[in-house]
Amino acid sequence: MGAIRLDRIEKWFEELQVIKGIDLEIEDGEFIVFVGPSGCGKSTLLRMIGGLEEISRGNLVIDGKDVTSDPPSKRGLSMVFQSYALYPHMSVRENMGFSLKTAGAPKSEVTEKVDDAASILKLGDYLDRRPKALSGGQRQRVAIGRSIVRDPTAFLFDEPLSNLDAALRVEMRYEIAKLHQTLGRTMIYVTHDQVEAMTLADRIVVLEFGTISQVGTPRELYERPANLFVAEFIGSPA
Ligand code: ADP
Ligand code: MG
Repeated sequence: MGAIRLDRIEKWFEELQVIKGIDLEIEDGEFIVFVGPSGCGKSTLLRMIGGLEEISRGNLVIDGKDVTSDPPSKRGLSMVFQSYALYPHMSVRENMGFSLKTAGAPKSEVTEKVDDAASILKLGDYLDRRPKALSGGQRQRVAIGRSIVRDPTAFLFDEPLSNLDAALRVEMRYEIAKLHQTLGRTMIYVTHDQVEAMTLADRIVVLEFGTISQVGTPRELYERPANLFVAEFIGSPA
């Protein structure tokens, strides 16, 4: 559960090729981080995995099943964005339970799953509040909680912390690391923050203009950067 294979994935926007044939095997339970400069294709690649963006060429395989043309709902993944888009008129509990409820889950199951997620994210005291009565960090927790409640085979994060101030970013980084330990699920995490990448990743994928510059553990990239681009990004000694 949660193994994801990218097989020569390409993305074209009309004549513009932004993802140029990416091969990658992600193991079940791995924490993979996509890094690279703005515009290199991180979000596009993540959105193609999540099914929010059509794959122009190549194949996406999840747990041995080709899902290249499947809609997001059939992929068993869940995405967390930097803009958390909570429903303002709903309580935290209702926000977190909404997708399960609309999928027809019994009320008792929704309650139980929301309570479990709330306890993991320390949101237990806030379940009756509206989003506007929460801090930025708490809102981001609710957004993550919505994903947990859906019990996805993998979590996809697109710069989830970039709207938070520096102190909160550090705190949430620990929360996300803990979440990965607790749930043991595959996570694919996009960031342009090198510290986030180095501390969270089992393996980092460095992207440059739609191709993979290097894939490796934080230590491998730091000690043996494949090229100057990676060295500068990771901050290795020259
Ligand atoms: P990143 O997330 O790494 O900053 P993106 O994946 O957002 O990069 O964008 C990669 C490239 O694709 C950029 O050149 C961007 O302008 C282009 N791009 C993204 N979305 C679209 C779109 N819907 N139509 C045309 N070009 C796009
Ligand atoms: Mg992006």
